[in-house]
Amino acid sequence: MIDPFGRHITYLRVSVTDRCDLRCQYCMAEEMTFLPKRDLLTLEELDRVCRAFVAKGVRKLRITGGEPLVRKDIMVLFRRLGRMLDGGGLDELTLTTNATQLARFAPELAACGVRRLNVSLDTLDPERFRAITRRGDFDRVMEGIAAARAAGLHVKINTVALRGINDDEYDRLIAWCGERGLDLCFIETMPMGDIGAGRVDHYLPLSVVRERLAETWTLRDSTHRTGGPARYVEVAETGRRIGFITPLTHNFCEGCNRVRLTCTGTLYMCLGQEDAADLRAPLRAFPNDDGPLSEAIDAAIARKPKGHDFAIDRDNRPAIARHMSVTGG
Ligand code: SAM
Ligand code: SF4
Repeated sequence: MIDPFGRHITYLRVSVTDRCDLRCQYCMAEEMTFLPKRDLLTLEELDRVCRAFVAKGVRKLRITGGEPLVRKDIMVLFRRLGRMLDGGGLDELTLTTNATQLARFAPELAACGVRRLNVSLDTLDPERFRAITRRGDFDRVMEGIAAARAAGLHVKINTVALRGINDDEYDRLIAWCGERGLDLCFIETMPMGDIGAGRVDHYLPLSVVRERLAETWTLRDSTHRTGGPARYVEVAETGRRIGFITPLTHNFCEGCNRVRLTCTGTLYMCLGQEDAADLRAPLRAFPNDDGPLSEAIDAAIARKPKGHDFAIDRDNRPAIARHMSVTGG
């Protein structure tokens, strides 16, 4: 699949649920109305769409949400998708998770062929963790990360940079990840979805974070790329890399290789644009024929936009109305 700007689309992110056991302040409002079950693709339908994409050249799948591991029987999907690894067209099966269910699922994920995963963790302070997530149990997350490592999974920590909330903790996070051999990525807040409070107050440009880190750590620009939007530096003291994902201060769209499927079967060609394609209709109208589904995918890729135009609005309105938990991170 090649889009109008010559970019090869090889990476599909799939949100398998909009639900979550946490309510991170920057991601969701305290009270959320979730989708009715009938609107969701079944696990079989999700498998079918993923297969259609792999048949068309997708090499990497990332399962996300909402919290993917709270979807009922989610291991059924991982098991099926895992069969496309090892010569079935898929190079990597991975997920983004808040780690609350990892203690339970890590061994099975590894058995399905998952090798690496991203864990979202914004603080190392248990009380602060509860405040940011509005309900999370920090110890459970620590147990989840330990279980993932014990199962041989490579863990990358994703930390959203939040001014006045966790900006005094980055040195500690770098040291903590360094001691455990974990990679770390900082993410700028993106203006997505109504979260019941403004974002300008907590928006922290990563250029500022980087300048501050350079006062404590020896940072060297790295040429390392993972095919994603992160730019990396190497930390001489820990020997590890830190990534920076800066959707607002740096345009990373030129090399975009991905599209995103929601749990209702809507395909977003860009995280920062509203245009989308309905794949559920051809999927359900033709249960035994992937032709129309394949055509709908082609038509969608043919109108993948050049890039996003995120901006933190002065009036605190989200630039994109849907929450991150709809399209997945
Ligand atoms: N529940 C899983 C988790 O938290 O890892 C997966 C879904 S979550 C929506 C994926 C990622 O999006 C997380 O790393 C989260 O921190 C990030 N995220 C959510 N809302 C965001 C926002 N408004 N700006 C930047 N990152 C956001
Ligand atoms: Fe849930 Fe992930 Fe959003 Fe936090 S960031 S509320 S864990 S979906």
